[in-house]
Amino acid sequence: MMRTLALVAATILVSRADAGAQAAASRAAATITESDIRRRIDIIAHDSMGGRDTPSSGLESTARYLAREFERIGLRPAGTDGYFQRYGIRIRTLDPARSSLTIADQAATSATFRFPVDAKLAFGAPVDTVTTRELALGGGTIGPSTELDPAAVSGRILYWVTDWRRQAPNVGQILIAAANAGAALVVLSVNDDSAFARLNGPTRGIAIAESVGWPAVIAVRESAVVTAIPAAQASIDAARSTREVRVVPAPGWTITAAVGFAEDRRHEVPNVVGMVPGTDPTLRGEYLAISAHFDHVGSRCRGVTAADSICNGADDNGSGTTAILELAEAFANPAARPKRSILFVAVSGEERGLWGSEYYAKHPTVPIDGIVANINMDHLGRNWRDSIVVIGREHSDLGATVDRVAVANRDLGVGVLPDQWPDQRIYFRSDHYNFARNGIPILFFTNGFHPDYHAVTDSPDKIDAEKMARVVRLIFQTGLAIANHPERPRWNPESERQIVRRRSTIP
Ligand SMILES: [Zn+2]
Repeated sequence: MMRTLALVAATILVSRADAGAQAAASRAAATITESDIRRRIDIIAHDSMGGRDTPSSGLESTARYLAREFERIGLRPAGTDGYFQRYGIRIRTLDPARSSLTIADQAATSATFRFPVDAKLAFGAPVDTVTTRELALGGGTIGPSTELDPAAVSGRILYWVTDWRRQAPNVGQILIAAANAGAALVVLSVNDDSAFARLNGPTRGIAIAESVGWPAVIAVRESAVVTAIPAAQASIDAARSTREVRVVPAPGWTITAAVGFAEDRRHEVPNVVGMVPGTDPTLRGEYLAISAHFDHVGSRCRGVTAADSICNGADDNGSGTTAILELAEAFANPAARPKRSILFVAVSGEERGLWGSEYYAKHPTVPIDGIVANINMDHLGRNWRDSIVVIGREHSDLGATVDRVAVANRDLGVGVLPDQWPDQRIYFRSDHYNFARNGIPILFFTNGFHPDYHAVTDSPDKIDAEKMARVVRLIFQTGLAIANHPERPRWNPESERQIVRRRSTIP
């Protein structure tokens, strides 16, 4: 009897404690409001921030705003210089006079192709020294999920053949597939002189983060190649005859690429990082990282005119940046502070190629093994009023956690939707991927694309702040569940095998 009573008493105590914790969580969640969201997005996506390009003075202003708010909210600085963590980038201007491409066959017949008559920079980061490598010859249509065989590609220059007369290839997808397979450089063989003439590759303001080793992509006029090296014709024709993606090493063939620069400026650009320390003496050494990119594209978007030259990026990603601040405020509420520590990581350079998150994952300001999960947010203020897409649910038990939290907080009126765009492979294309490939399970909250995506019309007045407040409250409750759970989140084994450190060949 005594034992039963004691159990009953304990149960009542526990449920009282639970009820108390829930009430505290609701009070903290209630600090996430429609009016706060509207006010913050108006600041971050204001014309005075200039579209937050990386680098820019507007990006710096936004970073200072975030740091000031982190301080006001009472976050512990968790960058390398207070709240800031800076990384180096270079902005360069191509010098055609010091740029060239030389191709040599097995018999050492070689020809040099000059910029911009016969060769052009097409995409990606330029190499800044002369590179001579063996050639791998590839052809076919590369899609978002294409993987090239590293054994054939790694350390070589990939000479890529498609039929430009039929369709110009997706250069970005070729670059990603080539980089993942470890290519030193990509050369596109352009078999259409008028398409080559129209190619308008980057020549000024070519930007690259020092820590990201993407290979350059150079386009070469194929008619010039086969005229100078007739032996190349048969191999190129064979590569073009297949639509399936195929790569073969071309032993004895080499390419020497030189890309020279007339101007080369270095900048240091910021990530902004703050922390709410956990309350549990043991678990506070573990972290939930909540991330969003705060940069946008400056003036490089659709619909820019002389009258309106600023891409405000209200949804992309004024919304996620605002969510970081609102979540920081809620988690810093003394009544709701969770057992694990919460790390707020606002990154720059996302629009340029995930620079800030890549740098953070390579140079984490807490032990990376201590980061138990990442919640990433991009585009939260548009589309569905009653649901949010959560990407990555199938890869770890975080999926079950967010589903459970959404049901328990039904009153928010936010349902969880699975990935609506599986062919876009969003899991592999945003900042959270830099956490995932380093072993950290992730959830990515997004309302996805809309007609104002990367257009001058992605403006603050289009944000649905009321709906967004409910979405951010759901993210808060999800974060709280992760940060208070006794066990750290677990990968699904098959996903872990496929995702974690798989792409170790990235240069
Ligand atoms: Zn974005």
